[in-house]
Amino acid sequence: MDLKKENRLLHARLRELTQKAQENQETLGRFHARELELLGAETLPELLSCMTEGLKTSFEIESLHLMLHDPNHEIRHLLYKNGLDEKAFPLLEFVDDMVTVNPRFQRLRSPWLGSFLSPEYDLLFSDPAGIESIAILPMVRHNRLIGSINLGSSEQSRFSRQLATDFLARLATICSVCLENTVNREHILISGLTDPLTELHNRRYLDRRLDEELARAGRYRQPLSCLFIDADHFKQINDTYGHQAGDIVLRELANRIRSQLRASDIATRFGGEEFALLLPQTCLNEALMLAERIRMEVNSQPIPLDNGSTLQLSVSIGVSETLPLSSKSQQKADGQRLLANADQALYTAKANGRNRIEYHQTDKALPDEINSSER
Ligand code: GH3
Ligand code: MG
Ligand code: MG
Repeated sequence: MDLKKENRLLHARLRELTQKAQENQETLGRFHARELELLGAETLPELLSCMTEGLKTSFEIESLHLMLHDPNHEIRHLLYKNGLDEKAFPLLEFVDDMVTVNPRFQRLRSPWLGSFLSPEYDLLFSDPAGIESIAILPMVRHNRLIGSINLGSSEQSRFSRQLATDFLARLATICSVCLENTVNREHILISGLTDPLTELHNRRYLDRRLDEELARAGRYRQPLSCLFIDADHFKQINDTYGHQAGDIVLRELANRIRSQLRASDIATRFGGEEFALLLPQTCLNEALMLAERIRMEVNSQPIPLDNGSTLQLSVSIGVSETLPLSSKSQQKADGQRLLANADQALYTAKANGRNRIEYHQTDKALPDEINSSER
């Protein structure tokens, strides 16, 4: 072959290789950024969106289907607690049993690449039409298959058996570890916002929601009310029947409060034998009606104790309302005032004899039906 021609061919080959290397470099850079995003995801929704839409964008492929093994609906419950459900992630499918995954892939512990076979592999994708080649990346933790990231391309040559899979295996491992960590973290977060004795939310949760609810109330110009509920003479119950009996009473009190609430009401154990309720879209009069229902519910039936005896419990309740009109910067102060006003009204209810309701705003008389029933 003449030298000139050989030279030209070599040059062309070199250009091709340089271009390929550059493309590989760019792809690696893109995935590196995505890996950092996966590792940095702080919430379950953030992680799931990164594992679905995010990866699909990075791979520049037509189909991505994420299957997650969720036999006890644990991950789904965590999503619900985040105010979301499966519908928020169209590329995600929760499976109760990994049998749904093709038998061929059930024992898979490292990525599998090859041609797409219909109908055998149809269940691996929500819309298998047009898929020619696939990469199945099993997500494995402690030698258990916890899910699978299924990639589908319309190009026959995109995922071939010859392709190196180290990088895909690494990506699947990162996804698996991140999922496990995030699920654990969300569990801790939820337990950190829940009172274990009554299973109501705790004070930290109230602080968090107070800001959100004030912002919402401000945006929609709706009232937000607050109830402070405190068990009367609770110390005597502990002193007479013991601490454990006191706990039973607290749990029953929480249940009786809960039984009167709407789904949108936020009930928290503020501390000890004191409960704080936030009532979105509720004006003072409605809040007073609810307070009366709770007072009656607690006082009308004695509480059974473990030893067969019963005791009569009563609560005092302070009520306050705010119609947030102030700016965002004053929201914190509005929130604290709402709580302080309810607390002060509670103090008045105690001073006025207990088993009763008082509210902030001294210029208004209590409606007739409040505190009127037999006590
Ligand atoms: P008042 O009518 O003025 O509210 O009187 P009180 O006795 O209810 O109020 P006080 O604040 O004097 O006593 C509250 C008691 O609640 C004291 C505390 O030991 C008890 N307590 C707080 N948390 C718990 C708990 O988790 N379990 C039990 N059993 N008792 C608790
Ligand atoms: Mg008390
Ligand atoms: Mg108290």
